[in-house]
Amino acid sequence: MKKAIVVGSGAGGATVAKELQGHYDVTVLEAGKEFNPFGMQVEWLEKLRRYGLLFDEREIQFIVPAYKIRRASDEMILVNGVGLGGTTTICTGNALRLDGDLKALGIDLDAEFEEIYREVPVTTVHQKKWHKVTRQLFSVFQEMGLEPQPMPKMGEYERCLHCGRCQLGCPHGVKWDSRRFLQAAQENGAQVITNCHVERVVIEGGRATGVRAKNGWANHFFPADLVVLAAGGFGTPVILDNSGIPCEARLSVDPVLSVAGRAPNSRQYKDVTMPFVSNLEHIILSPYFDHLSFFFNQDWRLHAGDILSIMIKLADDELGSISSTGVEKTLTVQDRARLHEGMEICKEILRRFGVSEDELFLGTVIAGHPGGMLPLTENDALSFHSDRLPENLYVADATLLPRSLGKPPILTIIAMAKRVSKILQNI
Ligand SMILES: Cc1cc2nc3c(=O)[nH]c(=O)nc-3n(C[C@H](O)[C@H](O)[C@H](O)COP(=O)(O)OP(=O)(O)OC[C@H]3O[C@@H](n4cnc5c(N)ncnc54)[C@H](O)[C@@H]3O)c2cc1C
Ligand code: SF4
Repeated sequence: MKKAIVVGSGAGGATVAKELQGHYDVTVLEAGKEFNPFGMQVEWLEKLRRYGLLFDEREIQFIVPAYKIRRASDEMILVNGVGLGGTTTICTGNALRLDGDLKALGIDLDAEFEEIYREVPVTTVHQKKWHKVTRQLFSVFQEMGLEPQPMPKMGEYERCLHCGRCQLGCPHGVKWDSRRFLQAAQENGAQVITNCHVERVVIEGGRATGVRAKNGWANHFFPADLVVLAAGGFGTPVILDNSGIPCEARLSVDPVLSVAGRAPNSRQYKDVTMPFVSNLEHIILSPYFDHLSFFFNQDWRLHAGDILSIMIKLADDELGSISSTGVEKTLTVQDRARLHEGMEICKEILRRFGVSEDELFLGTVIAGHPGGMLPLTENDALSFHSDRLPENLYVADATLLPRSLGKPPILTIIAMAKRVSKILQNI
């Protein structure tokens, strides 16, 4: 059987591994290690914070090693997951179909989404057990005409304990993440190698012959008949650049800004994260206890139980890039204007909740949806393959997204990865 190397085990990589194993002999190369959720109480970290021991977001890696933090500028940090399951293990479980921009290119993913809804449980059942603070916020959103909708979540949410730790890794195995697809691939014979950082694709005579990677301290060449890159929006462009294939400076990241206030004993941090959402034109609004700001932003000094926070998530301008020399990404004038618009609405929500103006504070701008640097175009609508790539090298992750979504992309990435896999099964 022909050999396929899949780089990365997140939303895109695990999907391709599951779909291709059996058609190819699949080996997944994953830079990170096994994922383990954070096992301690948030209150314990609150103590470390009080003693001044938490001051830099990068320290989150000592708490949840899967977190990778980069600083894009003084005002924005970039986040992704490194480890089995990629960023899906630290996601908040939101499950939306967002293929409007792909449809506009002539790409119909109906069949892929049908498969996804058969394979991944998606539900709003968590709504039945929302805590009082969430129900009250929902009413405020309704009163303001923001048309909030319960957020569809992936996983067995009838078992959700509403502990609010989704982004630290679900300790109760409720939330779906891509390790379930990876396991299916392994049960079907796929091999998974962790701690294996792919540096570049080796291209000879116009074909990919394999990849060069660091496995621990050792350098390895992994030969392959087919290479699929799914190292995520921050990983895949770097590997391509190292392989002599530049991408486009169209990096988008969906920045998040939390607007928070003092609401004594509201205990928002103990409910499911992002329980509902309001869709505005370029932003979404959702209740969100921002752990990174809480641990590391000096403005978040209150006790966790006394903080009420709303997130603004923005579909940012597709402008920026990442390569082995670093990342270039800042908020544009338009990005700032849209965040500002969201801030005014959030302030009014918190005011209606009883938070006074002088008790408001902002979170750090945090962005965790990287992608878009090798965007699909009308030309690639059928092949899902850019002319820039050798014929046996494919990309199957957020790098393919044609536009920033400003919304949770996992299901759409899975759908794109399924389409890539179908194409590869038939060549
Ligand atoms: C805190 C947070 C919460 C989120 N919540 C949601 C949510 O609720 N719903 C939603 O839809 N989206 C959510 N997202 C976004 C979503 O998780 C990502 O957009 C999605 O997982 C990206 O899929 P991907 O396949 O492109 O990359 P990833 O899932 O990031 O997978 C990439 C994989 O490649 C590996 N890798 C990277 N470089 C290399 C290399 N050189 N060699 C080998 N392996 C490599 C990484 O370790 C990783 O395992 C969230 C993101 C964050 C940060
Ligand atoms: S609220 Fe707790 S139990 Fe529910 S999905 Fe999130 S981490 Fe898991």
